[in-house]
Amino acid sequence: MNVEFEKKLAIPMEVKEMYPASMEITGKVQERDAALKKIFSGEDDRIVLIIGPCSADREDSVLDYISRLIPVQEKVKDKIFIIPRIYTNKPRTTGGGYKGMLHQPDPNEKPDLFKGIIAIRELHMKAVKETGFTCADEMLYPESYKYIDDILGYVAVGARSVEDQQHRLTASGIEVPVGMKNPTSGDYSVMMNAIKAAQGDHHFIYRGWAAHSLGNPYAHAILRGYTGPDGKSFPNYHYEDIVKLCDAYDAHPDLLNPAVIVDTNHANSGKNPFEQPRIINEVLTNCRYNDRIRKIVKGFMVESYIEDGNQSIGGGCYGKSITDACLGWEKTERMIYEIADRL
Ligand code: PEP
Ligand code: MN
Repeated sequence: MNVEFEKKLAIPMEVKEMYPASMEITGKVQERDAALKKIFSGEDDRIVLIIGPCSADREDSVLDYISRLIPVQEKVKDKIFIIPRIYTNKPRTTGGGYKGMLHQPDPNEKPDLFKGIIAIRELHMKAVKETGFTCADEMLYPESYKYIDDILGYVAVGARSVEDQQHRLTASGIEVPVGMKNPTSGDYSVMMNAIKAAQGDHHFIYRGWAAHSLGNPYAHAILRGYTGPDGKSFPNYHYEDIVKLCDAYDAHPDLLNPAVIVDTNHANSGKNPFEQPRIINEVLTNCRYNDRIRKIVKGFMVESYIEDGNQSIGGGCYGKSITDACLGWEKTERMIYEIADRL
Protein backbone atom coordinates (compact mmCIF):
# COMPACT_ATOMS: atom_id res chain seq x y z
CA MET A 1 0.00 0.00 0.00
CA ASN A 2 1.21 3.44 -0.80
CA VAL A 3 0.45 4.70 2.71
CA GLU A 4 2.64 5.39 5.69
CA PHE A 5 0.93 4.27 8.90
CA GLU A 6 2.22 7.10 11.09
CA LYS A 7 0.75 6.30 14.48
CA LYS A 8 -1.67 3.77 15.97
CA LEU A 9 -4.55 5.75 17.46
CA ALA A 10 -6.33 5.02 20.73
CA ILE A 11 -9.71 3.42 20.14
CA PRO A 12 -12.90 5.29 21.19
CA MET A 13 -13.26 3.27 24.41
CA GLU A 14 -9.74 4.24 25.49
CA VAL A 15 -10.27 7.90 24.64
CA LYS A 16 -13.57 7.89 26.56
CA GLU A 17 -11.76 6.40 29.59
CA MET A 18 -9.12 9.13 29.37
CA TYR A 19 -11.71 11.88 28.88
CA PRO A 20 -14.93 10.57 30.44
CA ALA A 21 -18.23 12.41 30.26
CA SER A 22 -19.25 13.32 33.82
CA MET A 23 -22.63 12.41 35.33
CA GLU A 24 -23.59 16.05 34.91
CA ILE A 25 -22.84 15.91 31.17
CA THR A 26 -24.58 12.55 30.71
CA GLY A 27 -27.66 13.84 32.52
CA LYS A 28 -27.83 16.92 30.31
CA VAL A 29 -27.39 14.77 27.18
CA GLN A 30 -30.28 12.50 28.19
CA GLU A 31 -32.55 15.42 29.05
CA ARG A 32 -31.86 17.24 25.78
CA ASP A 33 -32.12 14.05 23.68
CA ALA A 34 -35.58 13.35 25.06
CA ALA A 35 -36.70 16.94 24.39
CA LEU A 36 -35.42 16.89 20.80
CA LYS A 37 -37.09 13.56 20.02
CA LYS A 38 -40.42 15.04 21.15
CA ILE A 39 -40.01 17.79 18.56
CA PHE A 40 -39.24 15.30 15.79
CA SER A 41 -42.16 13.07 16.79
CA GLY A 42 -44.57 16.04 16.79
CA GLU A 43 -45.35 15.90 20.53
CA ASP A 44 -43.69 19.30 20.99
CA ASP A 45 -44.31 21.95 18.33
CA ARG A 46 -41.27 24.14 19.01
CA ILE A 47 -38.88 24.57 16.12
CA VAL A 48 -35.27 23.43 16.14
CA LEU A 49 -32.53 25.89 15.28
CA ILE A 50 -29.20 24.24 14.50
CA ILE A 51 -26.91 27.21 14.41
CA GLY A 52 -23.22 28.03 14.50
CA PRO A 53 -20.09 28.35 12.42
CA CYS A 54 -19.44 26.31 9.29
CA SER A 55 -16.35 24.93 11.00
CA ALA A 56 -15.21 24.95 14.63
CA ASP A 57 -11.76 26.38 13.94
CA ARG A 58 -10.73 27.25 17.51
CA GLU A 59 -12.03 26.43 20.93
CA ASP A 60 -12.12 29.89 22.52
CA SER A 61 -14.20 31.64 19.85
CA VAL A 62 -16.57 28.67 19.44
CA LEU A 63 -17.28 28.54 23.19
CA ASP A 64 -17.62 32.34 23.22
CA TYR A 65 -20.17 32.07 20.38
CA ILE A 66 -22.15 29.30 22.08
CA SER A 67 -22.16 31.20 25.40
CA ARG A 68 -23.82 34.13 23.62
CA LEU A 69 -26.68 31.80 22.70
CA ILE A 70 -27.50 31.06 26.39
CA PRO A 71 -29.51 34.23 27.22
CA VAL A 72 -31.13 34.16 23.78
CA GLN A 73 -32.23 30.54 24.25
CA GLU A 74 -33.67 31.45 27.64
CA LYS A 75 -35.80 34.22 26.12
CA VAL A 76 -37.18 32.08 23.27
CA LYS A 77 -37.34 28.72 25.05
CA ASP A 78 -41.10 28.31 24.62
CA LYS A 79 -40.80 28.51 20.84
CA ILE A 80 -37.28 27.51 19.76
CA PHE A 81 -34.92 24.69 20.75
CA ILE A 82 -31.37 25.75 19.93
CA ILE A 83 -28.65 23.25 19.02
CA PRO A 84 -25.29 24.91 18.39
CA ARG A 85 -23.19 23.64 15.51
CA ILE A 86 -19.73 22.40 16.46
CA TYR A 87 -18.54 21.06 13.10
CA THR A 88 -15.20 19.43 13.73
CA ASN A 89 -14.58 17.72 10.38
CA LYS A 90 -15.17 19.31 7.00
CA PRO A 91 -15.88 17.62 3.67
CA ARG A 92 -13.79 19.17 0.89
CA THR A 93 -14.96 19.03 -2.71
CA THR A 94 -11.52 18.27 -4.13
CA GLY A 95 -9.96 16.90 -0.93
CA GLY A 96 -7.62 19.88 -0.37
CA GLY A 97 -7.68 22.64 2.24
CA TYR A 98 -8.68 22.76 5.90
CA LYS A 99 -10.46 19.55 6.94
CA GLY A 100 -11.44 20.68 10.40
CA MET A 101 -10.30 20.48 14.03
CA LEU A 102 -10.15 16.67 13.88
CA HIS A 103 -7.31 16.94 11.38
CA GLN A 104 -5.80 20.23 12.50
CA PRO A 105 -6.50 21.28 16.08
CA ASP A 106 -4.61 24.42 15.10
CA PRO A 107 -5.54 25.41 11.52
CA ASN A 108 -2.14 27.07 11.09
CA GLU A 109 -0.21 23.92 11.91
CA LYS A 110 0.27 20.51 10.30
CA PRO A 111 -2.38 17.77 10.71
CA ASP A 112 -2.25 15.83 13.99
CA LEU A 113 -5.12 13.36 14.19
CA PHE A 114 -4.43 12.12 17.72
CA LYS A 115 -4.46 15.66 19.10
CA GLY A 116 -7.48 16.31 16.91
CA ILE A 117 -9.52 13.49 18.44
CA ILE A 118 -8.82 14.80 21.94
CA ALA A 119 -9.50 18.40 20.88
CA ILE A 120 -12.93 17.62 19.43
CA ARG A 121 -13.98 15.47 22.40
CA GLU A 122 -12.87 18.17 24.83
CA LEU A 123 -14.64 20.90 22.88
CA HIS A 124 -17.95 19.05 22.70
CA MET A 125 -17.69 18.20 26.42
CA LYS A 126 -16.81 21.77 27.42
CA ALA A 127 -19.79 23.05 25.44
CA VAL A 128 -22.18 20.86 27.44
CA LYS A 129 -20.49 21.58 30.75
CA GLU A 130 -20.05 25.33 30.35
CA THR A 131 -23.16 26.24 28.36
CA GLY A 132 -25.67 23.42 28.93
CA PHE A 133 -26.09 22.89 25.18
CA THR A 134 -25.55 19.55 23.50
CA CYS A 135 -24.39 20.31 19.99
CA ALA A 136 -24.54 19.14 16.38
CA ASP A 137 -21.70 17.77 14.28
CA GLU A 138 -21.42 16.23 10.85
CA MET A 139 -20.63 12.51 10.67
CA LEU A 140 -18.04 12.82 7.95
CA TYR A 141 -16.19 9.65 8.97
CA PRO A 142 -18.38 6.87 10.41
CA GLU A 143 -15.34 5.41 12.19
CA SER A 144 -14.41 8.58 14.08
CA TYR A 145 -18.01 9.34 15.08
CA LYS A 146 -17.66 6.93 18.01
CA TYR A 147 -15.13 9.21 19.74
CA ILE A 148 -17.95 11.67 20.49
CA ASP A 149 -21.18 9.64 20.16
CA ASP A 150 -21.99 9.92 23.88
CA ILE A 151 -22.05 13.75 23.85
CA LEU A 152 -23.63 14.82 20.56
CA GLY A 153 -27.18 16.16 20.44
CA TYR A 154 -27.72 15.99 16.67
CA VAL A 155 -25.89 14.49 13.70
CA ALA A 156 -25.93 15.42 10.02
CA VAL A 157 -24.81 13.31 7.07
CA GLY A 158 -23.48 15.74 4.48
CA ALA A 159 -24.39 16.24 0.85
CA ARG A 160 -21.22 14.44 -0.32
CA SER A 161 -21.69 11.42 1.99
CA VAL A 162 -25.42 10.74 1.86
CA GLU A 163 -25.27 8.15 -0.92
CA ASP A 164 -22.61 6.10 0.87
CA GLN A 165 -23.69 2.78 2.40
CA GLN A 166 -21.38 2.93 5.44
CA HIS A 167 -22.76 6.36 6.41
CA ARG A 168 -26.33 5.13 6.02
CA LEU A 169 -25.79 1.95 8.04
CA THR A 170 -23.89 3.80 10.76
CA ALA A 171 -26.71 6.38 10.92
CA SER A 172 -29.13 3.49 11.53
CA GLY A 173 -27.32 2.82 14.81
CA ILE A 174 -27.25 6.44 16.03
CA GLU A 175 -29.51 7.29 18.97
CA VAL A 176 -30.12 10.98 18.28
CA PRO A 177 -31.96 12.47 15.27
CA VAL A 178 -29.83 12.28 12.12
CA GLY A 179 -30.41 14.65 9.22
CA MET A 180 -29.72 13.21 5.76
CA LYS A 181 -28.89 16.06 3.37
CA ASN A 182 -29.96 16.13 -0.23
CA PRO A 183 -26.92 15.34 -2.40
CA THR A 184 -25.17 18.15 -4.29
CA SER A 185 -27.11 17.07 -7.42
CA GLY A 186 -30.38 17.83 -5.60
CA ASP A 187 -31.85 14.36 -6.28
CA TYR A 188 -34.53 13.77 -3.62
CA SER A 189 -34.58 10.01 -4.20
CA VAL A 190 -30.97 9.68 -2.94
CA MET A 191 -31.98 11.48 0.26
CA MET A 192 -35.21 9.47 0.69
CA ASN A 193 -33.28 6.22 0.17
CA ALA A 194 -30.77 7.37 2.79
CA ILE A 195 -33.60 8.04 5.27
CA LYS A 196 -35.12 4.64 4.55
CA ALA A 197 -31.74 2.93 5.06
CA ALA A 198 -31.08 4.84 8.30
CA GLN A 199 -34.50 3.96 9.72
CA GLY A 200 -33.94 0.25 9.05
CA ASP A 201 -31.97 -2.27 11.11
CA HIS A 202 -28.80 -3.71 9.62
CA HIS A 203 -25.95 -6.15 10.08
CA PHE A 204 -22.64 -4.66 8.94
CA ILE A 205 -18.94 -4.31 9.66
CA TYR A 206 -18.14 -1.43 11.99
CA ARG A 207 -14.69 -0.76 13.44
CA GLY A 208 -13.68 -4.41 13.20
CA TRP A 209 -16.94 -5.72 14.64
CA ALA A 210 -19.87 -7.58 13.18
CA ALA A 211 -22.43 -4.98 14.26
CA HIS A 212 -26.24 -5.02 14.41
CA SER A 213 -27.99 -1.65 14.36
CA LEU A 214 -31.59 -1.22 15.50
CA GLY A 215 -32.64 1.57 13.12
CA ASN A 216 -33.07 5.29 13.75
CA PRO A 217 -36.76 6.34 13.68
CA TYR A 218 -35.71 10.00 13.77
CA ALA A 219 -33.66 9.97 10.55
CA HIS A 220 -35.03 12.83 8.44
CA ALA A 221 -34.36 15.16 5.48
CA ILE A 222 -32.24 18.29 5.27
CA LEU A 223 -32.72 20.49 2.20
CA ARG A 224 -29.53 22.45 1.43
CA GLY A 225 -30.03 23.52 -2.21
CA TYR A 226 -28.10 21.95 -5.08
CA THR A 227 -25.62 22.55 -7.86
CA GLY A 228 -26.83 22.39 -11.47
CA PRO A 229 -24.87 20.83 -14.36
CA ASP A 230 -23.40 24.26 -15.12
CA GLY A 231 -21.99 24.58 -11.58
CA LYS A 232 -24.59 27.17 -10.55
CA SER A 233 -26.37 26.98 -7.18
CA PHE A 234 -30.11 26.41 -7.02
CA PRO A 235 -32.29 26.67 -3.91
CA ASN A 236 -34.76 24.05 -2.72
CA TYR A 237 -36.45 25.85 0.18
CA HIS A 238 -39.31 27.36 -1.84
CA TYR A 239 -42.97 26.41 -1.50
CA GLU A 240 -42.96 23.91 -4.37
CA ASP A 241 -39.75 22.25 -3.16
CA ILE A 242 -41.20 21.50 0.25
CA VAL A 243 -44.52 20.35 -1.19
CA LYS A 244 -42.49 18.00 -3.40
CA LEU A 245 -40.81 16.65 -0.28
CA CYS A 246 -44.22 16.13 1.39
CA ASP A 247 -45.21 14.12 -1.71
CA ALA A 248 -42.00 12.09 -1.49
CA TYR A 249 -42.77 11.26 2.16
CA ASP A 250 -46.37 10.36 1.20
CA ALA A 251 -44.94 7.91 -1.32
CA HIS A 252 -43.02 6.28 1.57
CA PRO A 253 -45.68 5.60 4.21
CA ASP A 254 -43.23 3.22 5.88
CA LEU A 255 -41.03 6.13 7.01
CA LEU A 256 -41.49 7.28 10.60
CA ASN A 257 -41.58 10.88 11.81
CA PRO A 258 -41.56 12.71 8.44
CA ALA A 259 -39.48 15.83 8.92
CA VAL A 260 -37.26 18.37 7.23
CA ILE A 261 -34.68 20.83 8.47
CA VAL A 262 -34.08 23.65 5.99
CA ASP A 263 -30.38 24.50 5.69
CA THR A 264 -30.46 28.20 4.85
CA ASN A 265 -26.84 28.57 3.70
CA HIS A 266 -24.86 26.48 1.17
CA ALA A 267 -26.64 26.23 -2.18
CA ASN A 268 -29.87 27.61 -0.67
CA SER A 269 -28.31 31.02 -0.06
CA GLY A 270 -25.90 30.72 -2.99
CA LYS A 271 -23.30 30.99 -0.20
CA ASN A 272 -24.52 34.49 0.68
CA PRO A 273 -25.06 34.14 4.45
CA PHE A 274 -27.04 37.39 4.68
CA GLU A 275 -29.90 35.73 2.78
CA GLN A 276 -30.51 33.35 5.68
CA PRO A 277 -33.00 35.46 7.71
CA ARG A 278 -35.01 36.10 4.54
CA ILE A 279 -35.07 32.40 3.66
CA ILE A 280 -36.36 31.50 7.13
CA ASN A 281 -39.02 34.19 6.80
CA GLU A 282 -40.21 32.77 3.51
CA VAL A 283 -40.41 29.22 4.87
CA LEU A 284 -42.33 30.43 7.95
CA THR A 285 -44.79 32.24 5.68
CA ASN A 286 -45.28 29.01 3.73
CA CYS A 287 -45.82 27.13 7.00
CA ARG A 288 -48.71 29.47 7.80
CA TYR A 289 -50.21 29.01 4.37
CA ASN A 290 -49.95 25.23 4.04
CA ASP A 291 -50.61 22.75 6.82
CA ARG A 292 -48.55 19.99 5.19
CA ILE A 293 -45.53 22.29 5.12
CA ARG A 294 -46.11 23.39 8.71
CA LYS A 295 -46.19 19.78 9.89
CA ILE A 296 -43.07 18.66 8.07
CA VAL A 297 -40.77 21.63 8.70
CA LYS A 298 -39.16 20.99 12.08
CA GLY A 299 -36.62 23.75 11.89
CA PHE A 300 -33.61 25.39 10.31
CA MET A 301 -29.86 25.03 10.04
CA VAL A 302 -28.03 28.36 9.95
CA GLU A 303 -24.35 29.18 9.50
CA SER A 304 -23.53 31.92 11.97
CA TYR A 305 -20.48 33.06 13.92
CA ILE A 306 -19.26 36.11 15.84
CA GLU A 307 -18.18 38.12 12.77
CA ASP A 308 -19.92 38.45 9.40
CA GLY A 309 -18.43 36.72 6.35
CA ASN A 310 -15.27 34.64 6.13
CA GLN A 311 -11.50 34.97 5.86
CA SER A 312 -8.63 32.85 4.64
CA ILE A 313 -6.78 30.55 7.05
CA GLY A 314 -4.35 32.56 9.11
CA GLY A 315 -6.46 35.69 8.52
CA GLY A 316 -6.28 36.24 12.26
CA CYS A 317 -9.74 37.70 12.83
CA TYR A 318 -11.24 36.18 16.00
CA GLY A 319 -14.68 34.61 15.46
CA LYS A 320 -14.67 34.88 11.67
CA SER A 321 -15.22 31.71 9.61
CA ILE A 322 -12.31 30.13 7.74
CA THR A 323 -14.70 28.02 5.64
CA ASP A 324 -18.19 29.09 4.44
CA ALA A 325 -19.20 32.73 5.08
CA CYS A 326 -21.43 33.14 8.13
CA LEU A 327 -23.98 35.59 9.51
CA GLY A 328 -22.38 37.63 12.32
CA TRP A 329 -23.58 37.72 15.92
CA GLU A 330 -25.59 40.96 15.90
CA LYS A 331 -27.63 39.92 12.87
CA THR A 332 -27.98 36.41 14.30
CA GLU A 333 -29.38 37.62 17.60
CA ARG A 334 -31.86 39.88 15.82
CA MET A 335 -32.86 37.03 13.51
CA ILE A 336 -33.57 34.61 16.37
CA TYR A 337 -35.86 37.14 18.11
CA GLU A 338 -37.62 37.83 14.82
CA ILE A 339 -38.23 34.12 14.28
CA ALA A 340 -39.65 33.82 17.80
CA ASP A 341 -41.96 36.79 17.16
CA ARG A 342 -43.34 35.09 14.08
CA LEU A 343 -44.10 31.77 15.79
C1 PEP B 1 -21.90 22.19 6.19
O1 PEP B 1 -22.94 22.02 6.82
O2 PEP B 1 -21.03 23.03 6.49
C2 PEP B 1 -21.69 21.39 4.95
C3 PEP B 1 -20.49 21.10 4.54
O3 PEP B 1 -22.82 21.05 4.35
P1 PEP B 1 -23.10 20.25 2.97
O4 PEP B 1 -22.78 18.81 3.26
O5 PEP B 1 -24.57 20.49 2.76
O6 PEP B 1 -22.25 20.86 1.90
MN1 MN C 1 -20.72 25.13 5.52
